[in-house]
Formats: sequence, structure tokens, C-alpha cells
Amino acid sequence: MTLSFRAQDVTYVPGDLNLIITAPHGGYTTPANVPDRHHGCVVNNTCVFQYGCTPQDATNCRVVTLRDQYTKEIAELFFDIVKNKTGRTPYLVTCNWARIKLDANREINEAAFGNNESQRVHYDFHQRIKQAREAVESQYSQGGLLIDVHGHAHANNWFELVSFSFSIHFSFRSHWWSTHIQIPNAHSHSR
Ligand SMILES: [Zn+2]
Repeated sequence: MTLSFRAQDVTYVPGDLNLIITAPHGGYTTPANVPDRHHGCVVNNTCVFQYGCTPQDATNCRVVTLRDQYTKEIAELFFDIVKNKTGRTPYLVTCNWARIKLDANREINEAAFGNNESQRVHYDFHQRIKQAREAVESQYSQGGLLIDVHGHAHANNWFELVSFSFSIHFSFRSHWWSTHIQIPNAHSHSR
């Protein structure tokens, strides 16, 4: 597959910091030629995700189509804050399609329902994350931190951050800011 990286599909901002911020399903793009996703159907005891399948099984093959509200905006805001505070640019990768059309945070069948266009964007999104990871890994021996922004479709006034460092050398801890993120002039830690 070739990468297209249209801005309405996937946002990719290359950085110069070992921090990657991602948001998989907070987007708004709704291509008219791509049908809406819906619950899958059980066929031979497995879930099949096919447009128009019947009967749709909301219990066993549940498909979430509501956007993780404001997670794209939170990722962008966090990106800006880090940039302003450090003078360095984190990597930013967001999938800009609405979750009703594509869920970049699911395996490919449930994510894209076999639609070529959706599969391409799913691929682009994950390729960009891979690209960012490889860039960080090649430049920072200590690895980096990836923060994946998630939310809730219901009315709680909070959101969820899923983060993991992709080097076993580091693990998430409360003072991650000073230990994980390489900020110019920051004191080095001996761990
Ligand atoms: Zn989520």
C-alpha cells in the first residue's frame, strides 16, 4: 500500500523531542462515499464486520461509533503547551476521520469494515506513528514516551490518557516530565 497522508485523513507533525502525542478517534472527516460503521454479526462463532450484515449483535460484536469527544483538540493543545514550554516540538499524529467511518484504534476488520479507503487511512495513521517511533528511537538512546489521548462519549468532565514508553529502560512514573522528556538544559538524572 502507498501512503497518501492527506491532511483531512491524518495529521502528522514531525518533532525534535522524544515525545509522541497521538489521538486515534477524535476526528471529524466523514467521506460521503464511505458507509457508516455499525455492530458486527456473529458468523461461525466469530464476529464479522461487514456493511449491512444481519443480525447485528450489539452484545458480542459491539462497535463503538461515538467520537472520543475533544481528544483531537486535547492532543493539539498538549502539543502546543509542550512546544511553548520547552521550545521543542513533540511529534503529533491524529487520525482525522470520524469514528462512525473509521476507528483507527481497532484491528483492521472492525476498524474499516473492508473499505479500501478506510483501510488506507488506518494504514497511514499507524505508519506515521511507526515513523515517529523510529525517528525517536534512532535519536534517543533512552527511548521515548507516547501519549495516546482517549475520552469518554458520555458526559463526564474528564478524559483519559494512555501512555507508555517504548523502551524498557523507562517506565511511567509521576515525575515523567523530568525523566522521560529530554528538555534542553534540564538536569540529567542518574535514575
Ligand atoms: Zn478511545
